[in-house]
Amino acid sequence: MELAKVLGLGPSGSAFVATYRNAIGVDSSRRYFKACGEAVPVETPLVDRRYIVDTVRRYKFYSWRREVGEVAYSRARWHIVEKAQWIESMRRGGASGEGGWDILVKAGGPYQSVGEKIIVARAYVEGRRLEDETAYFVFPEAGVGFYWVFPHGGVLNVGGGFLGVSNPVPYVLKFVEEWLGGGRVVDVRGAPLTVRPTILLHDGEGFRIGEAAGLVYPLTGEGIRPGILSALALASALKTKRPLETYRRQLEGIIRQIEFQKRLLGLAQRLAGGGNLLELTDDSVLREYIEENLSAKALFAAVAKKPLEGARLVAAILRK
Ligand SMILES: Cc1cc2nc3c(=O)[nH]c(=O)nc-3n(C[C@H](O)[C@H](O)[C@H](O)COP(=O)(O)OP(=O)(O)OC[C@H]3O[C@@H](n4cnc5c(N)ncnc54)[C@H](O)[C@@H]3O)c2cc1C
Repeated sequence: MELAKVLGLGPSGSAFVATYRNAIGVDSSRRYFKACGEAVPVETPLVDRRYIVDTVRRYKFYSWRREVGEVAYSRARWHIVEKAQWIESMRRGGASGEGGWDILVKAGGPYQSVGEKIIVARAYVEGRRLEDETAYFVFPEAGVGFYWVFPHGGVLNVGGGFLGVSNPVPYVLKFVEEWLGGGRVVDVRGAPLTVRPTILLHDGEGFRIGEAAGLVYPLTGEGIRPGILSALALASALKTKRPLETYRRQLEGIIRQIEFQKRLLGLAQRLAGGGNLLELTDDSVLREYIEENLSAKALFAAVAKKPLEGARLVAAILRK
């Protein structure tokens, strides 16, 4: 088995090291501490139960204070994890030692990705309680992006990111005051997120996995599950005769979804005032959004129920 050197030990790199076995991992920071919503769909591989601190089975969508939709499930749909501890536990796996290597794997996340990035901020907030097992998505009246409030084992994980906003921290703090009605902010930090990724699975020098390969969903910012799936896909593709082809084939579904969401994001930006695309839709589309099955068909079927908005949407597409 060829020896792989992995640059970056976030969810993708550490999942690769934990799975491929003959890998040496290095990271530019000693501990993993990146800001995150820490939400993963329950089917995400390699999630260790010891690091699950909460679950989500209900989703509420707001246009600022006005509730615009709700999707509920009878069972947990997301796990909320202590991401840093979980990633640290995976980092321990893998081969060690210095020297030569046969394959290079870039897993440096947004620090290595190609495409437009924004800074997204999150804060832990104590002393406020919303409904249990519920995730809130709040779309501001202007701008493209959203705030979120996720439960996190007794505290709230609150964050936000918007196209064209280079420092969202003041926005998130204001959101805590105005929307949430206050609370103790115990930690606030920001990190980059690739919102219009260029998919790059191999750059001539090495393979890429996770966000470094552009595998992050533009509409939701979800990057952990696609990152882990890409790590597992590459680990198994490396055992085949044509690793790059096999790797690309295994990721086809995810890539198609990312390209579609990228177009939707562009559309949302072009709609009047950078309007909120999801507000044009109904609960069935919100459900698709959560389940990451958002398809052109579902979106258009829902928009067709609102002809005025539908006409604006078609006009926006024609302007493309
Ligand atoms: C505020 C915020 C909230 C988010 N919320 C969610 C969420 O709730 N759910 C979700 O699924 N996704 C979320 N995301 C996206 C998610 O965090 C990332 O897409 C995911 O962590 C990508 O994993 P990764 O391993 O590919 O990269 P990263 O997690 O970015 O890890 C990359 C690692 O590589 C290291 N590194 C960088 N360059 C080098 C180098 N040259 N050499 C060595 N090491 C290097 C870094 O130190 C880092 O440890 C959020 C992102 C942000 C910013």
